[in-house]
Amino acid sequence: MTAPVIIGSERSEVGLPHGMAVLRDGGSALDAVEAALRVCEDNLADHYVGTSGLPNARGVVELDASVMVGSSRAFGAVAALQGYPNPISVARAVMERLPQHCVLVGEGAATFADECGFETAELLTEESRRLFREALQLEEANVEGERTLGLQGDRAYRLAALELVRRFAPHDGPWGTINVLALDASGELVVGVSTSGYPWKYPGRVGDSALPGAGNWCDLRYGGAACTGRGELSLRAGTARTVVEALGRGDDVERACRDALADAATLPDDFRAELRVLALTPDGRHGGAAGSPGSTYAVMTADSAEPEIHPRSVR
Ligand code: ASP
Repeated sequence: MTAPVIIGSERSEVGLPHGMAVLRDGGSALDAVEAALRVCEDNLADHYVGTSGLPNARGVVELDASVMVGSSRAFGAVAALQGYPNPISVARAVMERLPQHCVLVGEGAATFADECGFETAELLTEESRRLFREALQLEEANVEGERTLGLQGDRAYRLAALELVRRFAPHDGPWGTINVLALDASGELVVGVSTSGYPWKYPGRVGDSALPGAGNWCDLRYGGAACTGRGELSLRAGTARTVVEALGRGDDVERACRDALADAATLPDDFRAELRVLALTPDGRHGGAAGSPGSTYAVMTADSAEPEIHPRSVR
């Protein structure tokens, strides 16, 4: 029997105890990842996932999430999903109930969520709306849908994105997507990722969190990995899969994470912001890396009373 373990990126601490409770009861890694991420998605204090996630350049919250199972490499994801507060559950439903597909986006993803009976909710909270207005320096009257932009979309997005990078590099506290990786007593390994994506992103933008190999990869032979931060870099570098391939070659976990970030960092990128990665192996070893010091991840084993915070190594 495998000793269960669950790990997560910054701000997963609110969800990990719920995931570990599932694992302690002999539940599956898939149930544990979903349970942990749902709590994170419902956390109104968190502006990077689920309800109260920061909106796109038009003031509309669009969520990306994915889940991948190590033994089968089954993958399910939704992207640019509007109006559903728990995209991780919809991503799981894509994997389980629509196995002829892996990824649904936008309106189609919402249609599928509706058909599955998921509840809708208003995702833009007062606070996330205030942050949006401040960041884009919008008057209250200009914060609704098509009327949001005095500037045309692409130009407004680019200006906002530049401002964002100025404010976030170096970032001023824990931010970004949430990754949860779990290993259950049967030895199954699952990786889940949930995000509202880059704040003020161009409408319809899909990030690394929803795409296999980029923000999420899980292969029971070698390990699972997931990313937070500058998604376009991990999309271009295939970062999560790069980590797992290095694990397959026998690299230790932190080295695999550091080398994958170093590879992504070689790519030219005007909007360069930090990319971070986390990994967990089928024998329960874990590690993470980031581009600058101070970044952490959280870990729970069956004996943990609460999540333990571990430093990530620096690329
Ligand atoms: N990786 C996420 C994305 O690109 C953003 C983040 O983690 O900050 O959508």
